Amino acid sequence: MACVFCRIAGGEIPAEVIAREDGATAFLDVTPLADGHVLVIPNVHVGRVEDLEPDTAAALFRAVHRIVGPIRAAVGAEGTTIGINDGAATGQTVPHVHVHVVPRRTGDGAGSVHSIFPHGTRQELASVARAIRSQLERA
Ligand code: 5GP
Ligand code: ZN
Repeated sequence: MACVFCRIAGGEIPAEVIAREDGATAFLDVTPLADGHVLVIPNVHVGRVEDLEPDTAAALFRAVHRIVGPIRAAVGAEGTTIGINDGAATGQTVPHVHVHVVPRRTGDGAGSVHSIFPHGTRQELASVARAIRSQLERA
């Protein structure tokens, strides 16, 4: 059986859909973190960001780009936290790529992306950058 987000993209189960675009669908999160909390998904089932086809990745961010301003205006928010839980270790619960678009207000009590990581890291930047560049060369 298709995953829940595939079924929403296909119109098989109900959701508060706000936009159906070529390649992507945006709908309200059923348990919103704030009014106007929207999920944007690729219409095809892909579990991880790195496995998106480039055209699908572009369609996904094009949809985010198109809806972020209207969402903010609709709920009278000042800003937006935009994030992806990518992989089970991050807390991803639905294994179909989805972008959280969460409207924010000064003093709403939520933190920045930095607040997710209380300890940070002391690894030397140059060696981390070298390792990533080396992986990129192989990709
Ligand atoms: P994750 O933790 O995987 O990044 O977030 C999954 C999100 O999907 C959660 O915020 C959850 O509320 C939302 N969600 C899960 N099932 C459904 C559903 O059937 N309909 C809608 N609209 N949202 C869902
Ligand atoms: Zn799916």
